[in-house]
Amino acid sequence: ANSDCGQSGTNIQVAVRCRPINADEEKRGFVPIVSTDTERRQVKINYGQGLKKITKNFNYDRVFGRFATQEDVFKHTVAPMVDEVLAGFSCTAFAYGQTGTGKTHTMEGVLDSPKGYGIIPRAILSMFEKLNACAADFTVRVSYLEIYQENLEDLLEASPHGLGAGSKALTGGTHGAVAGGGKSKGLRLMEDVKKGVQVLGLEDVNCKDAASTVALLQRGVTNRQTAATLCNKNSSRSHSVFTLKVVIKETNDSGEEEVRAGQLNLVDLAGSECIGRSGAKNERAREAGNINQSLLTLGRCITALTEGHPHIPYRDSKLTRLLQESLGGRAKTCIIATLSPVASNVDETLSTLEYALKAKSI
Ligand code: ADP
Ligand code: MG
Repeated sequence: ANSDCGQSGTNIQVAVRCRPINADEEKRGFVPIVSTDTERRQVKINYGQGLKKITKNFNYDRVFGRFATQEDVFKHTVAPMVDEVLAGFSCTAFAYGQTGTGKTHTMEGVLDSPKGYGIIPRAILSMFEKLNACAADFTVRVSYLEIYQENLEDLLEASPHGLGAGSKALTGGTHGAVAGGGKSKGLRLMEDVKKGVQVLGLEDVNCKDAASTVALLQRGVTNRQTAATLCNKNSSRSHSVFTLKVVIKETNDSGEEEVRAGQLNLVDLAGSECIGRSGAKNERAREAGNINQSLLTLGRCITALTEGHPHIPYRDSKLTRLLQESLGGRAKTCIIATLSPVASNVDETLSTLEYALKAKSI
């Protein structure tokens, strides 16, 4: 009944991507227990042993298997969102799943060759291609931030050492307000009556073309890795949000100037094990609690949206406050849930499949 791209009732589309088995898993004799049927949009999982063998089928709006290319995934998830953004709407795509299942591969991909490009660089290329083709007067602004332990950090912050927010978090964290303006607690979110939710002091870089925007993405990715190493962060616990803001000015038939502003948020979420059964056992409670907050609240907001609740708990986490204007209403949302194919991850895989099902419109 729900075969039509799953847009029935809500604007949330749910896709699932199962990565291939890797060399290490193969060497250890693992066989895949997850199979995908792209045509029927179905994921099948087999687990248990002997008389307790269980097979379960799950249906989603889109299903990508081990042969799906980066282009396939982009084309059927975020590509249609680019048109929405150019029409003046906000859209958000999330990669959700256990650490090691392909969230970053799906969102970023391999940046040194266009074939390996994931969703973010492909969205950049598509956006500029369309903007240049319609020859409008446009501006594109890019920001890229990370949420770690409910702190916001700028991944594009210019720094003499090229370390971005990380160097400040490192020095600022132990000594209080030091060089760097005491930003150790991260950037602040503020609600502006006119402009909506703002991140105070966040770099918002004006981008002229696709190549320089991809280069900027690369800089942010490098900053993220450097900062994670320097500050001893567990990077699987952080969320990253890459945002493209487009403003288009056009003169309409009656000679009046029209301004359209759209926004695309591309989010690489913390590993879902942070809220799963196995999650957070050995971590300090504060860290676990904080990560739970953004990931848990996102789940709650999505459930509330799909169920049509009047109250959506956006205010309960940094991630959902930041994205609140891009979730719900006319805004389109896509969740790409990523899976491991092997038996050793079966608990997390089932948990992800169930989360993704809950996010699907009911
Ligand atoms: P996550 O961000 O969810 O922790 P990664 O994106 O880092 O996971 O992926 C883990 C590893 O698996 C990486 O080496 C990545 O290149 C590889 N990988 C993930 N998805 C795929 C895929 N669909 N095809 C090939 N390799 C993949
Ligand atoms: Mg990752």
